[in-house]
Amino acid sequence: MSSGPEIDAGRLWQRHLAMADIGATPAGGVHRLALTDEDIEAHRLLADWAGPRGFSIELDAIGNMFIRREGSDSSLPPVASGSHTDTQPMGGRFDGISGVLAAFEALEAIDEAGIETPHPIEVIAWNNEEGSRFIPACMGSAVYAGAEPLDAMRAREDGDGVTMGSCVDALKAALPDTGHRDLGAPLAAFIEAHIEQGPELEANGNIIGAVTGMQGYRRFTVAVTGEASHSGTTPRARRRDAFFAAMDMTQALRAAMLDEEDILRFTIGRFAIPGGGISVVPGRAEFTIDMRHPDAATLRERGDRIPQICRENAGACEVEVDEFINQDPLDFPQAMISAIETAAGRRGYPHQRIYSAAGHDARHAAALCPAGMIFIPCWRGLSHNEAERAEPEHVAAAAQVIADMLIDLAQER
Ligand SMILES: [Zn+2]
Repeated sequence: MSSGPEIDAGRLWQRHLAMADIGATPAGGVHRLALTDEDIEAHRLLADWAGPRGFSIELDAIGNMFIRREGSDSSLPPVASGSHTDTQPMGGRFDGISGVLAAFEALEAIDEAGIETPHPIEVIAWNNEEGSRFIPACMGSAVYAGAEPLDAMRAREDGDGVTMGSCVDALKAALPDTGHRDLGAPLAAFIEAHIEQGPELEANGNIIGAVTGMQGYRRFTVAVTGEASHSGTTPRARRRDAFFAAMDMTQALRAAMLDEEDILRFTIGRFAIPGGGISVVPGRAEFTIDMRHPDAATLRERGDRIPQICRENAGACEVEVDEFINQDPLDFPQAMISAIETAAGRRGYPHQRIYSAAGHDARHAAALCPAGMIFIPCWRGLSHNEAERAEPEHVAAAAQVIADMLIDLAQER
C-alpha cells in the first residue's frame, strides 16, 4: 500500500520531450526566449495538460502563470513549486522547464493519489527568468515579489522594440480561459527544482542537492574618457589614452579581487573602445564588472573598493563608475533545507547540501514565504548550451521529492 503520491517517471520524461520540441534547435537544444510564439506555445501546452485534471489557471500582470489544485480551506494561501519556461538563446532542454515539469508531475501525482490538502497547491511558471530578450533576468518573480516596478518592466523593449506589456497581453489572449492573479498575493511556501548548472553533484555521485543559499552579486559599468588624437603625431606625454587607463584599472582590480580561497568571482565580460580606429589614440573605453561572493561582508568590502581603484588608475583620463545591481547573498531557511534532505533520504536518493552560484526565481519567492531549492545533476555541469542534459531518473527524483514536500507543506496550517 502506498501512503504518498507516486510520480510517473515515464510521463514526466515524455513531457520533457514534448516541451523540447517547442523551439527545438538542430543541435538538440532549445531556443525559446521569453514570451515569443514558442514560449507562449509552451504555456499553452501546460494549460492543455492542466485542463483535463480540473486544475485552474491564473495569470498576473507580468505574465507569471499559476496552475492550481484547490485545497479544502479556501482561506489558506497556496504552497507552490515551479521555475521558468524560457531559455537562453540556443539554450538547453532542462534549464527552467525541468522545474516546471517536476512541479506539474508532483501536482498530478498528488491528484491521482486523491490526497486532500487544506492548502491549495500550485505550479508556477515565472515569466522571463533568463533576461535575454527583456532585461533584467528573473523579471516575473521580481515584479511579483515587489522587487521591480510593474509599469517600468511592462515598458521594457526587446531588440525589435516590442514591449513586455504587449507580450503579456498576447499570452493572455492565447489563454483566454484563465483567471487573474494579483501581484504579491501570499504564498505559504515555494520550492524550485533546477539543474545544478555546475559539476558538483555529478562528481559526488549525488542526485539531489539541498540548496543552502545563493551568492550575492554586484554589477558595474566603467566609462573612461580621455582624448582622441592622432596616433602618429601625439607624443606619449600629451596623450590621454582611455584604453591604457582602462587597462591599468582592470589590472589593479584583478589584483584587488584575488582571494586565496578562490571563492570570489570577478569578471570583466565586456570591454569596448567605442569608435576606435587603428590610427587613433582611444578617447573612450568602457567595460563591465560582474563580481559575486556568498558572504555579504566580503561582497560589500571588496565591491566598495572598485570606484576608488578605478580613480587611482585613471592617469590623465576621467572615469565614471556606475553600479547598477547590488544583490545581497541569500540563505534559505534551515527548516526548508532539512525538509529536502529528509524527503530525499526517505526515498533513498543520495543527496548533499550545495550552494547556488547562479541566480534563480526562488530568490524573489524567498522574500514572500519560506522558500527552498532542489538541484539535480546535469551532464558535465554544462548549461546555457544546446548539449545541456539531465537523466530521466534524476528529473524523476526531483519530481518525487517535490511531491512529497508539497504534501507535507500543504497539510500544515
Ligand atoms: Zn534557469
